[in-house]
Amino acid sequence: MTYTFVTLFKNLVEGYFQDSILKRAIDGALLDIQYLNPRDFSESKHSKVDDTAVGGGAGMVMNPQPLYDALSELKKNDEDVHIVFVTPVAKAFNQNDAKRLAKKSHIAFVSGRYEGIDERVIETFADEVFSIGDYILTGGELASLVICDAVSRNIGGVLGNSESLSIESFETPLLEAPSFSKPQIYKKSSVPSEYLKGNHSKIRSLKLALSENKTKYFRPEQLLKHRTRISYEK
Ligand code: SAM
Repeated sequence: MTYTFVTLFKNLVEGYFQDSILKRAIDGALLDIQYLNPRDFSESKHSKVDDTAVGGGAGMVMNPQPLYDALSELKKNDEDVHIVFVTPVAKAFNQNDAKRLAKKSHIAFVSGRYEGIDERVIETFADEVFSIGDYILTGGELASLVICDAVSRNIGGVLGNSESLSIESFETPLLEAPSFSKPQIYKKSSVPSEYLKGNHSKIRSLKLALSENKTKYFRPEQLLKHRTRISYEK
């Protein structure tokens, strides 16, 4: 998978790939990270990439020309590139999107800055637009990294243990049961005793009950989905 980050601030993105799982994936040639700076395409005298909003409104907007030319160049080099704009004004990204996007060969993430991107660029180039939640970030780089990270875990070979994918939260409507590590007792607090007895069917039942409790507390609408699915399967 190739990712191209279309960003004015490459430095904000680069660090994330310098350690841990995604670095290993790059070293193992499973991922390739490229950068494209719209400023390098600006035709204005001082390489400007923003301007005041037409029709009024506070702040500056990324103007179309630099992004239009950058993205045209990107498409010229790879017509299969899948272009994703990150913006708060979109459907929220989720785990199904992560799995679906993991099958692409090249994804470009376009990060907005200032008050956002001229809508005509989005209309011309976007294959998809995603929000990562109902709040406003200063720029799209974090949102792009969030999506990139979630997608990458679903690419074959990126995770050492791919079994962990199938038991994670959002693979089913239920959230994952609480996890514990060693020691069994830490600062007088013990892991659930059932976990220690080695009866796998009892451990599975307990994990399911804990998982349902967590889901009921944090995401009641997900529990409803789970129950509907079970009654449908019966
Ligand atoms: N004026 C815009 C609005 O009210 O919708 C917000 C612009 S924000 C300050 C600048 C950029 O950050 C956006 O163009 C987008 O790329 C990114 N961004 C901010 N919040 C985001 C979110 N929740 N999800 C995805 N991208 C976001």
